[in-house]
Amino acid sequence: MIHNKPKALISYQKQAPVMSRFIIFSVILFFVILITGSIAFILSMRQIIRSNKGIELSQLVEIERVKLETSVNNEVVIVLQMSNSPLIARYFANPNAPELRQMALEEIMSYRRSFASEIIFWISDVDKMFYYNDVDPYLMDPYNPDNYWYNMTLYDTEIYNFNINYNPDLNVTNLWINAPVFDPYGKPIGMLGTGIDITTYLEMVNQNLADRASIFLFNAAGEITGARDPEMVEEKRNIDDELWIGGEGILSLAKTFAPYETQILDTPFGRIAIGTVPLLEWFSVAIMPDSLADYNTAMTAFFIVVLVVIMVVFIIFNVFIFGLLQPLRKSMIEAEEANRAKTAFLANMSHELRTPLNVVIGLTDLIMEENNLTNGITENLHKIGKAGTTLLGIVNDILDFSKVESGKLTLTPTEYQTPSLLNDVITLIVTRLGEKPITFSLNISDDFPRKLFGDDLRVKQIFNNLLSNALKYTQEGKIELTVNCCSAGTDERDTDLWMEIIVSDTGIGISKENMEKLFSDYYQVENNASRRIEGTGLGLSITRLLVELMDGSISVESELGKGSVFLTRFRQGFVDTNTIGHETAEKLRRFRYAEEKLTGSKKLVRLDLSHTKVLVVDDMQTNLDVAAGLLSKYKMQVDCVLSGQEAVEKIRRGAAKGEPVYNAIFMDHMMPGMDGIEATVAIRALDSEYAKTIPIIALTANAIQGTENVFYANGFQAFLTKPIDLMQLDSLIRKWVAI
Ligand code: ADP
Repeated sequence: MIHNKPKALISYQKQAPVMSRFIIFSVILFFVILITGSIAFILSMRQIIRSNKGIELSQLVEIERVKLETSVNNEVVIVLQMSNSPLIARYFANPNAPELRQMALEEIMSYRRSFASEIIFWISDVDKMFYYNDVDPYLMDPYNPDNYWYNMTLYDTEIYNFNINYNPDLNVTNLWINAPVFDPYGKPIGMLGTGIDITTYLEMVNQNLADRASIFLFNAAGEITGARDPEMVEEKRNIDDELWIGGEGILSLAKTFAPYETQILDTPFGRIAIGTVPLLEWFSVAIMPDSLADYNTAMTAFFIVVLVVIMVVFIIFNVFIFGLLQPLRKSMIEAEEANRAKTAFLANMSHELRTPLNVVIGLTDLIMEENNLTNGITENLHKIGKAGTTLLGIVNDILDFSKVESGKLTLTPTEYQTPSLLNDVITLIVTRLGEKPITFSLNISDDFPRKLFGDDLRVKQIFNNLLSNALKYTQEGKIELTVNCCSAGTDERDTDLWMEIIVSDTGIGISKENMEKLFSDYYQVENNASRRIEGTGLGLSITRLLVELMDGSISVESELGKGSVFLTRFRQGFVDTNTIGHETAEKLRRFRYAEEKLTGSKKLVRLDLSHTKVLVVDDMQTNLDVAAGLLSKYKMQVDCVLSGQEAVEKIRRGAAKGEPVYNAIFMDHMMPGMDGIEATVAIRALDSEYAKTIPIIALTANAIQGTENVFYANGFQAFLTKPIDLMQLDSLIRKWVAI
């Protein structure tokens, strides 16, 4: 007895897809929350930061203005007190009177101590000597353009004026307050004043601001009068050159301001505030650039904490779900294993069934061909043969189904002739009509393609399943087959065609509620009629799976008691533009029941091959009997051996003698010890032309494995499935033995 080697169960690959999908979903959801949350957070924070910055900047501008104006005002007051001093006025009128000079200097020095900078200067117009703190005086040239302020103060100023200048020796910028001194008759006789160290002042301001902000001062001409970088003041750089904000520029804008007005703007540098310093007729601008440090806030910390909490919740949730799914997953694995075991069992069983079926069908066929049988025996044999064929159909269905279940059903597309396929299909249905009062008709157009590219065996199976159902469930009336082919052109694969099959019958029909379940596994409609009818309930599910493998679909319309229409369409490859033409189409159409009935084996005309000798290898004697019986019909000499080893030995002996003994070998696949493939490999390895070229044809009952290619790859020329089909055997013999 041959035992199919149990196939190792494929390891459970779909490792809890539900769980991994859930984890992926959670991770994606978390990232969506993270990204949208971050965007929303950053946008709203930006808004808050900007408005905070605006407030902060305008406050800054205002405070600095007040500070600057206050300190300038203080100094102005002292300068004015000094310029109104009668002693100083007298001294200015007589700068060379020693006593007067002594007294006036004392007063001047006491004023000097009141100034924040302790800077003081004075000039009498009489001697034009410039006094500056304790430095030795020098003669002042009022016509030097650098000293423009001298005449300006003396002749154009009523109370006081300001001028700014940079001292490169000390690297400081001073804001000078100059006040003219008048004699009792109102004639200007000199001037005095103080200097405010703007550089140190601004350094202090900018130091307090650190890098967060910076402040600039500029006058009505746009010249920078105060900045962190003293060079800007020294070179009298223009504010708009340094800070171009677009539009008309800072200066033009600032000039439109009313005194004490402040404005906040968004610029490429970040937020800025522009303000005025009316006392000096200056303006100020404060800048706060955008920076990452702006987000260094409690809000950010809170946001991060919320994110971490969400993440932790997600993790806990996943762990929790994992715990819940664990038992479910276990039962899924168990169910899958059980299903696999069932599939493996079905495959094994169908293999085991095919082997004895081979004997039943093969021997029945053999006996039927005897000429001296009585009518009774012929009839009984016919019934045995029919039962065997039905059983084989069921076994094939189970096998197909288990193939699909285990993912082994793949399509083997080739170029095929449509008339021959349709001829086979119609022959089968017509021969099976039997005595039933049914007419069969075919609708096909003359321009149906002559050749198509696809798995013709599977296409045939779809036809046969639908037609045999129609036949099974129809007692009288009509079965109509319509085939169409149209371009699947809308798709990018426009070389493909849609093959459309419509099978309509006038049978028992199907109720609405049953129609939905039709295409599910093992489903048979529960009604009295179907109980009398053989079947496994697999036919339509296999048909659906095959059609789906070819990108297609299947549907049904039916009315109980009136009949059913099954419609299916699936994809086939385009080959060329040849059509079957009118003549062939007509021949196919005329293939009606009333015409000659065909029975395959009776039409067979066997060749006389008495000059040939073949070797049959099988581990079962009954199988050998069947094969030997079928082959001897060709009058060929048949040698039988029961194992692969014996076969190899026989060929080796023939090869050693240098005499080719056999014309071909029929080799069983599954045998204990050395199996058919191993034996063939061993034969091909023999050092002899005869052993290398002798045709070897595989005999296999094991259709589950889809091993065609394995046979070809291991030195076989062809293969035959058991039970042996007489027509197939005949064509193989013609091809490989009769040469
Ligand atoms: P079965 O091997 O039982 O025929 P199928 O899968 O081919 O299995 O069909 C499933 C069921 O669908 C059948 O049992 C039958 O009740 C119903 N059925 C299929 N084809 C027809 C038809 N042409 N007319 C009426 N009923 C049908």
